[in-house]
Amino acid sequence: MCGIVGYVGGQQAYPIIVKGLHRLEYRGYDSAGIAITTDKQLNIYKQAGKVSDLEDFVKDKNVKGNIGIGHTRWATHGVPNQLNAHPHKSGDSNLALIHNGIIENYDSLKKALIKRGHVFESETDTEVLVHLIEEIKKNEKVNLFEAVRLALNEVIGAYAILVIDKENNEEIIAARKGSPLVIGIGKGEYFVASDATPIVEYTRNVVYLEDEQIARINKKEALEIKTISNIIKTPYIDELELSLEAIEKEGFEHFMLKEIFEQPKCILDTMRGRINAKTGEITLGGILDYEKKILNAERIIIVACGTSWHAGLIGEYLFEDLARISVEVEYASEFRYRNPIITEKDVVLAISQSGETADTMAALELAKQKGATILGICNVVGSSIPRLTDAGSYTHAGPEIGVASTKAFTTQVVVLTLMALRIAKEKGTLTNTEYRQIITELELIPKKVEKVLELDDLIKEIAAEFKDATNFLYLGRGYNFPVALEGALKLKEISYIHAEGYPAAEMKHGPIALIDEHMPIVVLATRKGNYEKVVSNIQEVKARGGRLIAIVTEGDKTVKELADYCIEIPACFEELMPLLSIIPLQLLSYHIAVMRNCNVDQPRNLAKSVTVE
Ligand code: GLU
Repeated sequence: MCGIVGYVGGQQAYPIIVKGLHRLEYRGYDSAGIAITTDKQLNIYKQAGKVSDLEDFVKDKNVKGNIGIGHTRWATHGVPNQLNAHPHKSGDSNLALIHNGIIENYDSLKKALIKRGHVFESETDTEVLVHLIEEIKKNEKVNLFEAVRLALNEVIGAYAILVIDKENNEEIIAARKGSPLVIGIGKGEYFVASDATPIVEYTRNVVYLEDEQIARINKKEALEIKTISNIIKTPYIDELELSLEAIEKEGFEHFMLKEIFEQPKCILDTMRGRINAKTGEITLGGILDYEKKILNAERIIIVACGTSWHAGLIGEYLFEDLARISVEVEYASEFRYRNPIITEKDVVLAISQSGETADTMAALELAKQKGATILGICNVVGSSIPRLTDAGSYTHAGPEIGVASTKAFTTQVVVLTLMALRIAKEKGTLTNTEYRQIITELELIPKKVEKVLELDDLIKEIAAEFKDATNFLYLGRGYNFPVALEGALKLKEISYIHAEGYPAAEMKHGPIALIDEHMPIVVLATRKGNYEKVVSNIQEVKARGGRLIAIVTEGDKTVKELADYCIEIPACFEELMPLLSIIPLQLLSYHIAVMRNCNVDQPRNLAKSVTVE
């Protein structure tokens, strides 16, 4: 969370930083701020609200300068007001600092600094760090690079920081631990950001800063990197593969809608090169060396948060059903703190779109310490989880910018399906015929998703009918149960309507009490699986006057007679159904949110890429 951008070079820093902040706004939008230095003068402007509020605020201000840092905040310490907005400055107003993460020991550091005469303006943990750097710089008589390094040795917590000094208009100091930072290398100029999206149009040469590394970014010199324990590192230059179109809306009203409609292509991209058209053989290059480990694993523990956790639940059904390996799906935040039993025979698989989710990272680190094999499924190439894990597979969804995850979910499910099928084949838990049938069906999924997307107008009509509801219940069984959870989460996230997902049969153990004629119930009642049982659950809802929106298989007659609205999606194997049945639920929540005038791409209080605990 929190977006960070920095620039130093020959161009004006302000337009580059502001454009970059807009691209990073998905990471937080509580406040925005910028610090620019020119002729040894430091100008800091900050505003509560969005980057556009900052732009309005600086209209008549001096934003000239070739070096600057900018921040878009997702508040952890201190309310989202102007005082708490970043950048924060040192007591002598010489240094400006922006930060993504949490300084866990800020309270004790702050008390000690106050005793030594420091005065603080904000409630943030961040401001403490810039005062600490200032003090060390003065007391130890060291340069900024060294002062930052020494200060970070006193800090407990997570950070990505950029610091500038008004006395030096050529240099930015950057450091990271737990929060991402990418440095773009241009000709006589450098760009720094939380991800590559603000950098891609200027250069393709990037260096991903590693944890506990600190960089001196001087426009006249080569990049200098060391660890916070003072070991010099040679920067490794990566080439960016990101395209500019991929991070623009391309005519869609919102990123979320664009991303929903991209799913046929993303699913295809995620399968591309991984299924041999002739033999049906699946190759997941990233986990090849660890296949035996998975095959012989006593169990697979999937750790994830939010939407990725729902994908993980589908993974549980897939691995147990197809490959007969026992699976546990864990919320990373609970798993890491409850002294879990993990052995060397376990495979711990993390799922995270950003590859930076703090809790998921910590869960993996714990599993690694206990000797388990750790694997990852991530979307952002080069992010922290892929670098930490023994092996893993990328989803090829492209950048996901809408805060509510859509294409990341479906592509995660595709990777899980490919993994489960590959292991099932190797293990012999599926016959050749069964295996080939599922592969053939999987290859048809992108076309079928396209067909579901054609139902957009119908779904919009249904959304208009239900947009004023205050509660929703989502029901599903088997493979469709995690879909019900994900559908409810999507609605909550972007429309602020309370929604619950439930296993359809569990409804009678509680939620049925909520049902009356005001309660819309979305039921996943596709053929196969537990169809007949779901029909009985529908009858139970009907008997209590609930209003039913059913997702059914094309040609369904039984549910059609019972439900108020039916959304008919193509038939497919039960194992692959989530890839189709989630699409109408994504569209339904999207249209309801738009009709309620909610900010679909940047829902309140949320942010993407959760880099804090
Ligand atoms: N802890 C800092 C603040 O509250 C940064 C928050 C973050 O990176 O999410 O301002």
